[in-house]
This record gives sequence, C-alpha cells and structure tokens, in this order.
Amino acid sequence: MNHSGHVVGGILTGGAVCFLASTTGDVELGWETLNEITKSPLSPTQNTKTLLGLFMTTLFMALFPDLDIQSVSQRWFFRIVFVLMGIMHFSGRYDLFVIVAFCAILPVLHQHRGWTHWKITPWAIAVFLATVQEYFHAQQRTYGGFEWENVLELLERYWLFVVACVAGHYMHLFLDARSMRWLKFISNDANHH
Ligand SMILES: [Zn+2]
Repeated sequence: MNHSGHVVGGILTGGAVCFLASTTGDVELGWETLNEITKSPLSPTQNTKTLLGLFMTTLFMALFPDLDIQSVSQRWFFRIVFVLMGIMHFSGRYDLFVIVAFCAILPVLHQHRGWTHWKITPWAIAVFLATVQEYFHAQQRTYGGFEWENVLELLERYWLFVVACVAGHYMHLFLDARSMRWLKFISNDANHH
C-alpha cells in the first residue's frame, strides 16, 4: 500500500476510534465539539484535547510501520524528532533527549516489514510508553519507587489510547495484506511499502 492509502486508512480509523470513545462516554462528540474548537482554537478544552490525542495517535500508528523505509512519513517523523530533540536540549531535559534519540533509530535497525510490522508491536509500544511514564512518576514520588502495578493502572486508565494505538497499527497491516492488492486506486505495486 502506498503512503496516501495509509493516510486515508489512518484518518478513517482515527474517526472510528473517536466515535467509539464518544459511545463509551469518555468524550463528547457532536456539533458542540465543533463549536468548542472554532470558538477557542488556541485554548482547547480537555474534551477536545482527548479527541485530538486519540485521532493523532491512531493516524501516527497507521503510518508508523513504514518508518522502516524511506517514505514521506519517515521524512516528517525525523523532522519532528529533530525539532523535539532541539527543544529538549535547550530546555535541559537530557533524560527525555536520550530516550527519544535511542527510540528514533529503532525503526531503521531492522529490514523492511521487520519488527515495525509485527502484530505484537503496538501492544509493546503502549506498554513501553506507560513504563517510561511510570519511570518519571517514580522519580517525583517521595515514597516508593517504580511499580509494575502502576504501569498496568496507567494502561487501564488510558485504555482508549491503547485502542487507538492498536487500531491504527492493525489498519496498516490490513492495508499491507496481499489480499488488499486489488484496491488498485490506492495501491501501486512499484511503490508499495
Ligand atoms: Zn507497511
């Protein structure tokens, strides 16, 4: 599947995840949400932030697997990483700097359609991010250190983001599948990733 096919897939899945979130009552999605955004685009409410976060997580994960090969998404990914590393360097967050620097290289270490295309990958990423979060929380705690229980609790509390992560990634795998090659209008074999 080519890049634009994955972008379309990511946007559709992102919309579906936001809709799912609204049916569980975690967020509100409707015309009022649109009003909220247009009224104060620079100071989004918690609701809009969650919706946007879910949507972007899904879209990112739908594009993530092809970071293992030279692609449009890869170029943008490295541009964003570059800016982030700059911000972390100048704000003195070397702990985050090291984590981002190591992780940014991971997709290109393996062959194309290597680990980034594995079915277990989105789950591993979700657990990894929760672990990093708990690592930073533990540093701020006065009592007690790192607890795996808290990692589980984080995953439970942010389960919609885990869903977004997995749904976006699996959409990519689905569109990459051999059986999807008939979708000629969004896939061209010479340029498929
Ligand atoms: Zn792919």
